[in-house]
Amino acid sequence: MKTLFKNADILLFENGIYNVIKNAYLAVDGNKISYIGKDEPSDSFDETKDMHGKLLMSGFYNCHNHCPMVLLRGVGSDLPLNEWLFNKVFPIEDKLTAEEIEAGTKLALLEMLAGGTVSFSDMYFEPQVTARAVADSGMKANLTRPVQSFDPNEEPKDSFRIAQSLELYNEWNKAENDRILIDFSIHAEYTCTEKIARAYIEESNKRKGNLHIHLSETVKEHNECKEKYGKTPTEWFNALGAFDSRAFAAHCVTLEDSDMDIILQKGVNVVHNPTSNMKLGSGFARIPKMLDMGINVALGTDGAASNNNLDMLEEIHLASVIHNGYMQDATVMNADTVIKMATKNGALLQGRDDCGELKVGNKADIIAISLDKPHLRPIIDEKALITYSAQSSDVYMTMVDGKVLYENGEYKTLDKEKIYYDIEKAIKKLY
Ligand SMILES: [Zn+2]
Repeated sequence: MKTLFKNADILLFENGIYNVIKNAYLAVDGNKISYIGKDEPSDSFDETKDMHGKLLMSGFYNCHNHCPMVLLRGVGSDLPLNEWLFNKVFPIEDKLTAEEIEAGTKLALLEMLAGGTVSFSDMYFEPQVTARAVADSGMKANLTRPVQSFDPNEEPKDSFRIAQSLELYNEWNKAENDRILIDFSIHAEYTCTEKIARAYIEESNKRKGNLHIHLSETVKEHNECKEKYGKTPTEWFNALGAFDSRAFAAHCVTLEDSDMDIILQKGVNVVHNPTSNMKLGSGFARIPKMLDMGINVALGTDGAASNNNLDMLEEIHLASVIHNGYMQDATVMNADTVIKMATKNGALLQGRDDCGELKVGNKADIIAISLDKPHLRPIIDEKALITYSAQSSDVYMTMVDGKVLYENGEYKTLDKEKIYYDIEKAIKKLY
């Protein structure tokens, strides 16, 4: 399949910043971008799409999510963190079966595709269900079966979570032409015994795994770890070998300077989740300092229970403004930095080196943003429009690996009405 986009404004990454070429052509051959330029290519195409009034850019990489948690959207929203988690979230999660998880996952996929997300990193149980849904949808994802253990007597050989994680890896890693990658995951320091964590990390490292963790999300978690082990959560994970292969850490709100040195030295990727951190009152991650140090920082929504949507343009907006406000300096973050966090940095974190940027030879993960909106006029600075003005409803088209999955409100691979029906059924059972 060969597709040509014509009359398009195209956001390109050149010499460390983003520039727009106007009224240009972009060609897609199979799953790759084959041409970008001002002159019309002479090849013949199966399909030509007129992108007049639209901006083409890389799709978004949502690097920290728990898809099925859309089923808990809005539940207990204004409660304190612990009350919300223990009295609202956990009792509902205990009732979830594969059927509800499938419905929730598919609802999350609908939302992400409509908002320009092409790939996401997920952490939830029953991940085979998520993998099947992702495979059928045409999206990309890095999936995990998170490992937890609260029982000090549990032995690694008896951990069904470790067994499920390895099974998922064997069954799904690099499936669907590498669209699906299987990562490893320890939920967090405070939800896993040292014995189970150490054994599982060894399994992950043997496979050169990419380890997805929650790290120093709150002051409480950070300080309790220091009291218990005499180590920060970063030091605890590092001592267990968690950063010896690849790893990425969500939140990182309360990292100490010495933690950041470890993160940099070990090449750990960080996922910034500004909405979740603000909503749950966790605090301001020192993202500007991490970026200055050269740490790769991507963006994520976290689950919809703590956000309450999966809207990457909203994360871009918040990441671009909250640090300026907190540090009382309008130059701390800028559009180039934040757009790169949501695209190229996220693709790198996922181990997708040929994604996250519109360039010839890269995978065709492309979105079109409609500029035909009052809040996106006048068109003077497209980068600023995307960062500070655009809404997810401005996303007109989402293409993954050269296939259009969403266009002008219409889903090409997912049945929205059926998914809404399944969600209603799930909600009746859960609540
Ligand atoms: Zn999370």
